[in-house]
Amino acid sequence: MNIYLAIIIGSLLAVWFLNLLSDRLSALAMRPAPPEELSDVFDAETYAKSRAYTLASMRFSMVSETFNTLILVTAVAAGWFNVLDQLVRAAGFGPLLTGLAYIGGLALVSSILGLPFEIYHTFGLEKRFGFNTTTPATFVLDRVKGLVLAAIIGGALVAGILVFLDKTGPYAWLLCWGFAVLLSLGLTYVAPTWILPLFNKFTPLEDDELRDKLEAFADKAGFELTGIFVMDGSKRSTKGNAFFTGFGKRRRIALFDTLIKEMDADEIVAVLAHEVGHAKLGHIKKRLVTGVLKAGAIFYLMSLFLDSEGLFAAFGMQDMSLYAGLVFFVLLYTPLSLILSVAANAMSRKHEFEADAFAARTTGRPETMISALKKLSVSNLSNPTPHPLTVWLEYSHPPVLARIRALS
Ligand SMILES: [Zn+2]
Repeated sequence: MNIYLAIIIGSLLAVWFLNLLSDRLSALAMRPAPPEELSDVFDAETYAKSRAYTLASMRFSMVSETFNTLILVTAVAAGWFNVLDQLVRAAGFGPLLTGLAYIGGLALVSSILGLPFEIYHTFGLEKRFGFNTTTPATFVLDRVKGLVLAAIIGGALVAGILVFLDKTGPYAWLLCWGFAVLLSLGLTYVAPTWILPLFNKFTPLEDDELRDKLEAFADKAGFELTGIFVMDGSKRSTKGNAFFTGFGKRRRIALFDTLIKEMDADEIVAVLAHEVGHAKLGHIKKRLVTGVLKAGAIFYLMSLFLDSEGLFAAFGMQDMSLYAGLVFFVLLYTPLSLILSVAANAMSRKHEFEADAFAARTTGRPETMISALKKLSVSNLSNPTPHPLTVWLEYSHPPVLARIRALS
């Protein structure tokens, strides 16, 4: 058997099996009553609802992952990648356009296949548990805008990579790396003003009392707040959140309107303090540096496999090409991608604990951070006791119970 084929099919099935196992273990780890620390916010009815939501979400992800894995394994084994390649080649475009059409075609097929699942997730699952506020019009507009953005940004990225690989010899991967890093930094820079407003409204925070408190905290912590914005998260879901966007002088904090509705001013200060903690403790820089290094490693590895005849044989290809090599490398990279994402999640969970501790220390009120976490957990119906395998595989944030224990 072709070694590449064995690695790709084997790792797709292994990832699928790991996810199934993790869901099953988490379902078994659920307790009949809420843990002691959360019993003040989870009454019996809410806790039952959170269990039902966790189980329904697991069933949904099992079905969609099984479907995706089945389609992908079939596509590899049955030579569908070659069928698409022959179709695209028959159109007689130049080399760059052929590559863009091939990769764009694959992306389009995959988003069409995913659409029924997205529709069910938004209007079935999330609606049943009272989270969904997305109207069909918003849903359609989101998909259209997402598609246009993906075509522009993804198209520019793929075109740049194909041109560098084609024209610049053995160090092409270095140029690809530099290009990808510049593109993603540029996007981060323009996201708050050009991209995010395509999807949400950001209005400067008007509540004077809350703004005074947030600014007073930022002053005390020696953190320059360039803007506090309220985002209309309620347009899509009742779930609350807060985040920083942009960097340097354009960095701003966005608070979901749903968060403001649910929390009191001190709890929102604790949430801000947690986010400021990420910046002050260097988490944002660390994430950026590891992201850049990871991209470099990926491009280097990619350069080793692009002209491997065995890789093309694994997919039953009649012709070799740079663009198809890119796609095949992404699939070959599955096992390493899993390992790197587990490592990134572990780093992120450590950062979350540190940011919680920072918030508790700088506000001097750990109990406020705890009550903010409790409110978030209840309003998102999050599972308080996931199995350790699930945490290890999927959680970028520690389970709420672990965060509360670390703070008390
Ligand atoms: Zn955080």
